[in-house]
Amino acid sequence: VIRAYPNFFIGGNVFYKMAIENYNATIKLIKDLAENARFFEIELDREMEFNAGQFVNLVFEEEGRKFVRPYSICSSPSIKKSLELTIGLVEGGEFTSPLWKKEEGDSVGVKGPMGGFCVKETFAKDLLFIGAGTGIAPLRGMIKDCIERGFKAKMYLLFGERHEDRIFFEDEFEGMMEEHENFKFLKILSKPGDNWEGSNGYVQDNVDKLGIEDFSNVRAYICGRNGMVDSVRSKLLEKGVLAGDIFVEKYG
Ligand SMILES: Cc1cc2nc3c(=O)[nH]c(=O)nc-3n(C[C@H](O)[C@H](O)[C@H](O)COP(=O)(O)OP(=O)(O)OC[C@H]3O[C@@H](n4cnc5c(N)ncnc54)[C@H](O)[C@@H]3O)c2cc1C
Repeated sequence: VIRAYPNFFIGGNVFYKMAIENYNATIKLIKDLAENARFFEIELDREMEFNAGQFVNLVFEEEGRKFVRPYSICSSPSIKKSLELTIGLVEGGEFTSPLWKKEEGDSVGVKGPMGGFCVKETFAKDLLFIGAGTGIAPLRGMIKDCIERGFKAKMYLLFGERHEDRIFFEDEFEGMMEEHENFKFLKILSKPGDNWEGSNGYVQDNVDKLGIEDFSNVRAYICGRNGMVDSVRSKLLEKGVLAGDIFVEKYG
């Protein structure tokens, strides 16, 4: 497997297809991020090479039924022996309902890595990451990766959710903002509480709050449910982001 990053700063096409393989994994850590949203750390039986932003299929069998669903890796590819995932429980969901019964120490199958939602090319432009809900997952992995690799241009993260307690990894993003002056994080709440003094509404209606001067110099990565992704994409095109500079991952 060729690791692409030596080209990262000199403008080559850095995205190489990683081999898709099956792994046996153990759930090492389960943490509640909010009501019905969990952070999972799963330990693989061997190292996995992947690009930040890719996803894996989680697989398990129960009572003769096989369950499979894709989940974005929210950790950096510098950690190869375990993967971090951010998963929302869907009411009556065929996969997430049995997944919620899993405990630390349980086994799960992993197939991957897959997908091309990655920071692929040269770091010539500023990066704009926009996510809603669990759509933050691949963006967190990409941002961590860019920071680890010393990305110097600007990086913006717009994270939308209904309530403040569902802004996952808030402390982490705030910390990154303090430490890296080229990283700006803004949270947007669509149903804020009475004491909320920050930005509200939908993410697409708040892109102007980031202070971006030239949208044609921005490469954007959007992740979330279909409707949100389409609305944000239209807004960014309207603002002047080039169509070829918009990359999306839709969760359905
Ligand atoms: C490439 C890719 C990466 C993904 N990464 C993640 C991830 O990192 N974290 C994550 O939580 N999910 C992610 N998903 C979505 C995930 O694969 C499942 O679709 C989701 O967990 C629901 O599975 P389920 O079987 O429990 O629900 P299902 O039984 O498949 O769905 C039940 C019903 O709920 C609706 N529904 C499905 N998902 C949601 C949702 N998120 N919110 C509200 N309603 C929903 C469906 O349309 C359906 O009507 C990703 C999807 C794709 C395609």
